[in-house]
Amino acid sequence: MAPPLLEAVRAKIRDVPDFPKPGIVFKDVTPVLADAALFHGVIAALAARVATLDVDRVVGIEARGFIFAAPLAYALRRGFVPVRKPSKLPRATHRESYGLEYGRDALELHTDALSKGERVLVVDDVLATGGTALATRTLVERAGATVAAFVFLVELGFLKGADKLQGTPLYAFTRYD
Ligand code: AMP
Repeated sequence: MAPPLLEAVRAKIRDVPDFPKPGIVFKDVTPVLADAALFHGVIAALAARVATLDVDRVVGIEARGFIFAAPLAYALRRGFVPVRKPSKLPRATHRESYGLEYGRDALELHTDALSKGERVLVVDDVLATGGTALATRTLVERAGATVAAFVFLVELGFLKGADKLQGTPLYAFTRYD
């Protein structure tokens, strides 16, 4: 039997068909965030999953990744580092372009945000095709750091994003096949 927290979170994640484009079923996690017990519960559960990993910082992916990465960093008492959409970060950046489930985009990381040899967690709300997470791993590695693990609230298993991320441990709070 699935634990109550998992069941309650899954019951709150809303499928929104044809958003933002026809054919995409968007996983809307905002009802989970709006519920104090569920928001606290998922952050605590994710923190417990990664507690034994040796991690220096938590990297969040703009925009919804920030919502989970920042409280996770706080819970783990680690620094938070943003990976942002182009031209948002004010200083020198590494940039990586990538394909995602519904388009193409690019991500940036401040060149001095991570130190060589650091181990980081990369956090996002949803793993779909894996392009976003893969681009973030490339940025982290370009900075001389290593991704200790990927952390997601939701993994869309049928899109096989995890195949792109082989070689790095991956934790998803819940998975849809
Ligand atoms: P991908 O690069 O294909 O793994 O897409 C992951 C990124 O796009 C994440 O930052 C998600 O927030 C967003 N995303 C992609 N597909 C979905 C979906 N079906 N529902 C919600 N968010 C999605």
